Amino acid sequence: MVFQNEQSLYIRDMIIDFRSDTVTRPTPGMLEAMLKANVGDDVFGEDEMVNSLEAFAAGIFGMEAGIFCASGTMTNQIAIKCHTQPADEVICESQSHIYQYEGGGIAFNSGCQVKLIDGNRGRITAEEISAAINPNDVHKPASRLVSLENTSNRGGGSCYDIHEIEKIRELCNQRNLQLHLDGARLFNAMVARNEAPIVYGRLFDSISICLSKSLGAPVGSILLGKKEFIHKARRVRKLLGGGMRQAGYLAAAGLYALQHHITRLSEDHGHAQQIAKALQGQHFVKNIMPVETNIIIFEVSTPYTGRQVTEKLKEKGVLVYAISPTRVRMVLHLDVTPAMVAQTCAVVAGLRLDPA
Ligand SMILES: *Cc1c(COP(=O)(O)O)cnc(C)c1O
Repeated sequence: MVFQNEQSLYIRDMIIDFRSDTVTRPTPGMLEAMLKANVGDDVFGEDEMVNSLEAFAAGIFGMEAGIFCASGTMTNQIAIKCHTQPADEVICESQSHIYQYEGGGIAFNSGCQVKLIDGNRGRITAEEISAAINPNDVHKPASRLVSLENTSNRGGGSCYDIHEIEKIRELCNQRNLQLHLDGARLFNAMVARNEAPIVYGRLFDSISICLSKSLGAPVGSILLGKKEFIHKARRVRKLLGGGMRQAGYLAAAGLYALQHHITRLSEDHGHAQQIAKALQGQHFVKNIMPVETNIIIFEVSTPYTGRQVTEKLKEKGVLVYAISPTRVRMVLHLDVTPAMVAQTCAVVAGLRLDPA
């Protein structure tokens, strides 16, 4: 079996892709694990590899059950659907993925509305949530669910303080609210803060984790929760058309990612620090959000624009993403080598922009 080595291909062409941590290709080890997968029809519950992945993920979080889905959008949307009734209210941060990037799915799939809180780099506090809960008044939608995001994508990869989450859990218990975690990059937070999955498993009613972000699998997310909740989630996944057949080939990649690609995330975090340092003080950089994990977001100084920076970097073989007219995002991942980071730092240091 011959595997094409994508990394060497990248270096030869000098294309370094920081647009997202979703651009990774499976490693040779991961592809081998996929080929060896023992598969069956997962809609019949007969795919051994999918069953193993779900049990493994639930096990490391100390949660009862898990369900493998096509995307993080699907796991979040299924969770919201299972926790709520139409006309309920979901409390979340104003920059959160479930509100910004899931196509209006909360309204479409669950018939709920949202109560948005402007937090601190994507994070909200128990105090802010407490103030956002509606009174038991027939005029008001019923506050039903709180959804947190850790790390926060638009918050620049910021991490929650686990003590704040404990306070939020306590509040949810007192006010009879469900608590969901969009943990698309939860492993980045846990590695950065030296936290164990079991701690998160105890605090949330449901957790969504992405295997296809920084963990490097090609496809897939897992939703975790109580047995009964996941049983309900299977119904919703089916009605959304998300039942997959020999999904074990994909689950094998996910299991490999959980077993091999977690501790290495600290390399990505180190790389992000190196690049942020190179960006610091450059004429086109106004300021950089604190870098806590694998995401760098910087504000472009006037008169330059995010698009200008993006295009100029592209000419030098460095791909980045303008998340707003004046903000640029770079995400570190498995396919970025130390040599690529050094090259990027050199490109950044030498970049000269002409005023538009
Ligand atoms: C990427 C992401 C998701 C899920 O995205 P999919 O592309 O649907 O897998 C959910 N939440 C956050 C914070 C994300 O960054």
